[in-house]
Amino acid sequence: MDLLRNTPSWLAAFSDKLSIRKAIYPVIIHCISTTLDPSVPEAIAELKADNPDALTSLTRVMWANPRKALTTGSEKKNHSSIIMHLTNPIEVNNLIRHFCVLRGETHPTEKSHCSLISCHRCTNWGHTAAQCSAPIMCAQCAGKHLTVNCNCTEPEATRCTDHYSCSHIVTCCSQCKGDHRASSQECPVRIKAQAKLDEINLRDGPLFLINV
Ligand SMILES: [Zn+2]
Ligand SMILES: [Zn+2]
Ligand SMILES: [Zn+2]
Ligand SMILES: [Zn+2]
Repeated sequence: MDLLRNTPSWLAAFSDKLSIRKAIYPVIIHCISTTLDPSVPEAIAELKADNPDALTSLTRVMWANPRKALTTGSEKKNHSSIIMHLTNPIEVNNLIRHFCVLRGETHPTEKSHCSLISCHRCTNWGHTAAQCSAPIMCAQCAGKHLTVNCNCTEPEATRCTDHYSCSHIVTCCSQCKGDHRASSQECPVRIKAQAKLDEINLRDGPLFLINV
């Protein structure tokens, strides 16, 4: 029996303490008609019916870029990409090697690579707040509070209500202590995390890895 790798490698690369209960293998399907509504259960049923025995582990469908796919008016797009979540890596690799059928048409498929995620709690990269046990840090001033709770340092009468546009808070990156927000593209910690992820995505190649 194949020993399936059940944790994506990029997750382990950030911390071996992080794991997920059930592995999900995301795949992008290109050029899907925007008349499809991925948010309803019928979408999964339709995809499964059009691809007999090929999508048995399909659990979720969504637009890859909802903002673009759902634009209305003159800028309305007729086609957009969807992301499907499968739980069987063999099935998803077969799909990536071939194509997906929908309404009598074949659609190119592609492995969905991991994108860089940041934690709303500690502001570090590579995990979500739900997985975080690190101390709370502010992305704007490196203080010991959530970023949404960062407050202007002025007296009450002249205090800014929007901390994002406030110029009184001394910006300090919680990750490198530089004078930028922790999410800044120029932060060396972010640049390093992105480079690490790029390397993993490149090393893993176009298919999901299956240990045998
Ligand atoms: Zn965290
Ligand atoms: Zn703050
Ligand atoms: Zn202010
Ligand atoms: Zn920084």
